[in-house]
Amino acid sequence: MNRLVVISPAPTANGDLHLGHLAGPFLAADVCARYARASGREALYGTGMHFTQNYIVTAAARLGVAPEDLRERSADQVRRTLATMGIEVDGFGCIGDRFTKLVMDFYDRLHGMGALETKTVRFPYLPSTGEFLMDAYVTGGCPFCLADGYAGICESCGLPVAPGDLIRPRSTLRPDEPLEYREARILVFPVERYRAELEAYFARIPMRPGMARLIESALAGPLPDFPITQPTSWGIPAPFPEVPGQVIYPHMEGMPWSMFATALAAEKRGAVLAADDELWQADSGSTVVYFLGLDATYPFAIVGTAMLTALGGHVLPAQYVTNEFYELANEKFSTSRGHVVSGRELAAEVPRDLIRFHLCATSPEYQRTDFTREALLRVSETRLTGPWNRVAAAVDAWVDRGPLPVSADARRTASRMAERFADGYELRRFSLTAVASTLAEQLGRLDRLAAATTAETAGDLCHQVDVFLRCAAPILIDLAAAALSDTTLPGQVDADAVIPKKLPRLAV
Ligand SMILES: [Zn+2]
Repeated sequence: MNRLVVISPAPTANGDLHLGHLAGPFLAADVCARYARASGREALYGTGMHFTQNYIVTAAARLGVAPEDLRERSADQVRRTLATMGIEVDGFGCIGDRFTKLVMDFYDRLHGMGALETKTVRFPYLPSTGEFLMDAYVTGGCPFCLADGYAGICESCGLPVAPGDLIRPRSTLRPDEPLEYREARILVFPVERYRAELEAYFARIPMRPGMARLIESALAGPLPDFPITQPTSWGIPAPFPEVPGQVIYPHMEGMPWSMFATALAAEKRGAVLAADDELWQADSGSTVVYFLGLDATYPFAIVGTAMLTALGGHVLPAQYVTNEFYELANEKFSTSRGHVVSGRELAAEVPRDLIRFHLCATSPEYQRTDFTREALLRVSETRLTGPWNRVAAAVDAWVDRGPLPVSADARRTASRMAERFADGYELRRFSLTAVASTLAEQLGRLDRLAAATTAETAGDLCHQVDVFLRCAAPILIDLAAAALSDTTLPGQVDADAVIPKKLPRLAV
């Protein structure tokens, strides 16, 4: 069994997904899963919503709503946005009894085998409310990269920032109140114990430069103990008597959540599982690949891998396809400032195939990239809709005049085209920008071929257009669905005759 498990970590349930999220992990994960299935591989795509991060509490306070309502509303919006953009999720994991039990079982096992320790940790403390502050509750400077941000994982450099280490910490909700420091005893996971295994692991998996840089800085010094529990009330109650009244640190739900989302995905596709972590067991035949922003990488790739190593008997993720920030008109997307484009609003105005193509072409794989509506419209017209509609018109002229012969030269060209697409889709060097650029190049070539087509070469054109559509199908989902009865790859590359079929147009 060769099953691909594709996971994009659940975003915090404090609002809808904007175009920046979609252009980051979500579209890439969808394209990856679609390509795997079209190539005959079993693929499961899991994501969901993170319900326990305290960003929900601070966002709800700003909006004047209950955090429980905000997270339910966000989950509903996100499901609709993903569906609108054609991002086909199999398992959508939120909170609930089954998930809570998985988290408990996971940490019971680590706790039972002596992999967790108690440790006294210093937190900023708000005397007026008697609260310890962590993650979204406290802002300040990152001690590593000096950027302003929240405690937890630094959004700028991706390294873990203990709340007590923030430079000039302030309460997020009560920024004018003075803070004290107080100590609390929490459970931690000593990650440094697994250094040798982690070093060997990162030496063998492929990484994009941003992730390689993050891993190198993390491994340059001792790996800090990672918190497993926190002295706060928002979250899943921790069942350990040595830390009464604490919750599981939300960043540390990621590994059991990944198993949960995988199980939901498999069940949606008809599997009946004996255990919720069945598809993560070492002999399950699963290959796990994460699609995630750099700021989510540390807890999954470093701490998660170290925990799976401690537990033993599980698969280790094969790869993390990371992304950088996607900006809107050269500024960060910001829901609170209204500097945002929602996928659902855009899809109401522009056909989603055009949006998907443009997000692929501008995907922030190696560096920050930028979205503007003008670029979307201009680039789709010159590289996609214009050439495609001319090619489709040329093929239409031969409908009802088939079957037409396909030359050996055209078969070789079609086969080379399929390989060129595969170079971008295959996991080890997966790249949406590479696929989008191949798509535009090949379409440009077919456009020139169409302009010069004669009765002798019409079969060659129609055959190559069929192969092209299959190769483009993971991105241009509606066009492919309208044109082809199936989208298996590589299709009839070796066919020596073709029956031309009427082709749909792309709306401008
Ligand atoms: Zn930082």
